[in-house]
Amino acid sequence: MAKTAIITGGSRGIGEAMALKLGELGYNVVINYRSESSKVLSDNLAAKIKDQYGVDTLVVRADVSKYDDCENLVKATVDKFGDKIDVLVNNAGITNNCNFIDITKEQYEAVINTNLMSFLHMTHLVLPYMVNHSDKDNQCCIVNTSSVGGLTGVINQADYCASKSGIIGFTRAIALEFAGKGIRCNAIAPGMIMTDMLRGVNQDELNALAATIPQGFIGDVSDIAGALGYILTAPYVTGQVISPNGGFVLQ
Ligand code: NDP
Repeated sequence: MAKTAIITGGSRGIGEAMALKLGELGYNVVINYRSESSKVLSDNLAAKIKDQYGVDTLVVRADVSKYDDCENLVKATVDKFGDKIDVLVNNAGITNNCNFIDITKEQYEAVINTNLMSFLHMTHLVLPYMVNHSDKDNQCCIVNTSSVGGLTGVINQADYCASKSGIIGFTRAIALEFAGKGIRCNAIAPGMIMTDMLRGVNQDELNALAATIPQGFIGDVSDIAGALGYILTAPYVTGQVISPNGGFVLQ
């Protein structure tokens, strides 16, 4: 029977690469996005996954920082693919770049609600569709996108770092709570990866950023999709944080 995976923030960047990896691994893929401007991107990605890997896809617009929207996303998934969800990739994320005096309450709440609360909402809503069929031989997986910002401090990113280290604690606790039920939960903590999050940065700044990375270059979305592929095919790995980061956190 075909397996189903949901990815939040799957329209572009890291999420797009991970959605393709899910298709490559044979999952029917539910691609979530938030902005009207990403509808075409998401539809095109869904068509590409179908075409390339012969699996089915569903595109759902939902603001996952809101519980009601998460409910609609899960309901749309169950309506189309049935009450068995095998993989949840919590990936949607935003960032501010602001010191913690000038930042507004609205700005840091948006980061916490998008980057952390959405992971709790989606996990809470999807787990009932995992525990009903998972066991040691039929595992389900939750994979959470954290960040090196969750492993170290980053200037002007206090809200982001709070959300990303919160994800790590959440990942470990869920891994422990559901380990005996065949549900694994892991986090990926990317270092600097070339996506829209970095596209506003000019070449000089990019060079300066690359110089802060021991391996000397900014990572690619395929590095993170590769980590997802490893986690999904590693049945004894749970509660772990895999961090493709070019050595950034070793310094
Ligand atoms: P992008 O800005 O390229 O993509 C962000 C994705 O999240 C988009 O699909 C966007 O949808 C979606 N999204 C944002 N807010 C919401 C929301 N409220 N509801 C639903 N979807 C939402 O970012 P990246 O690909 O770079 O980042 C993906 C993840 O990786 C994030 O969690 C980020 O924090 C993390 N990360 C990224 C790093 C990097 O260097 N790029 C480093 C470390 C971690 P839409 O297209 O509709 O706006």
